[in-house]
Amino acid sequence: MDYLLPETGNIAVDNTENNTPTFTTQPSITVLPSATPMNNNNFGKDMDYPETKQASGTVRIPVLTYHHIATLPSNMLSRDYYVSPAQFEIQMAYLKSKNYKTIAPKEFYDLLKAGKNPTQKTVMITFDDGNVDNYLNAFPILKKYNFVGVFYIPSLRSGINKARLQEMVKAGMAIEDHGATHVDLKAENVDANLRKEIVNSKLVIEAMTGKKVYSIAYPGCVYDAQAFTFIKAAGYILGFSCGKSIDHKPGNYFSLSRIHVYNDLEDFKKRLSGIWEYPAGYSSN
Ligand SMILES: [Zn+2]
Repeated sequence: MDYLLPETGNIAVDNTENNTPTFTTQPSITVLPSATPMNNNNFGKDMDYPETKQASGTVRIPVLTYHHIATLPSNMLSRDYYVSPAQFEIQMAYLKSKNYKTIAPKEFYDLLKAGKNPTQKTVMITFDDGNVDNYLNAFPILKKYNFVGVFYIPSLRSGINKARLQEMVKAGMAIEDHGATHVDLKAENVDANLRKEIVNSKLVIEAMTGKKVYSIAYPGCVYDAQAFTFIKAAGYILGFSCGKSIDHKPGNYFSLSRIHVYNDLEDFKKRLSGIWEYPAGYSSN
């Protein structure tokens, strides 16, 4: 079955993207950042979908997870992990048009610790696995919209090399930890291996970027008590898993929910309101 791009409304969609093997030109976007007056006191306002009820005592900050920003593969199963460069730009333009602020893990920690919602609509945009297309296709768009991206890389298996990581840091991106070789931290029971995957990986990334690493995103989204002793020893202040919630409990710093992003603008808008469902064309495979 062909996957149809469901975009509607006033955002121009480049439907030729699937025929284009590499992304070389910027898609035309009708929503320009300069067209929208700045409003940094907009939390919960002007949402395109009614927001889900927020549990009392939580902090609402959608944490978005991307993997590949590249032309969609024909294989439906791996398609879940791709957002096309054109769709990614549409999503970033949407965030800009709605005056979203993008943050890095340290700011996320500070907001969570303060225990109340930010005054401005806020998201954290994350990318897993250190795929080189993150550098080639997402990074230029993030810079264009003056957004912060948070890149979780496996320190020994990063497809983005050291010089490029340094270039990204210089441009304001955050490079954070996704293990060393992307092993399942729950399945791994050998202390020396856990140390390599959790403690050494952080040191390697910090040495490459010259910046402190604050958070880990668990490969496959899981960890256990044995892994947690190393997570604490390494000095992480946040641990990100996967989930369906955009709300976070202060005090819960190590099982944080991130929401998967699909190649679908309407679904993207819903997720920002806390609505989680499979978008049209995808299934719970
Ligand atoms: Zn991963």
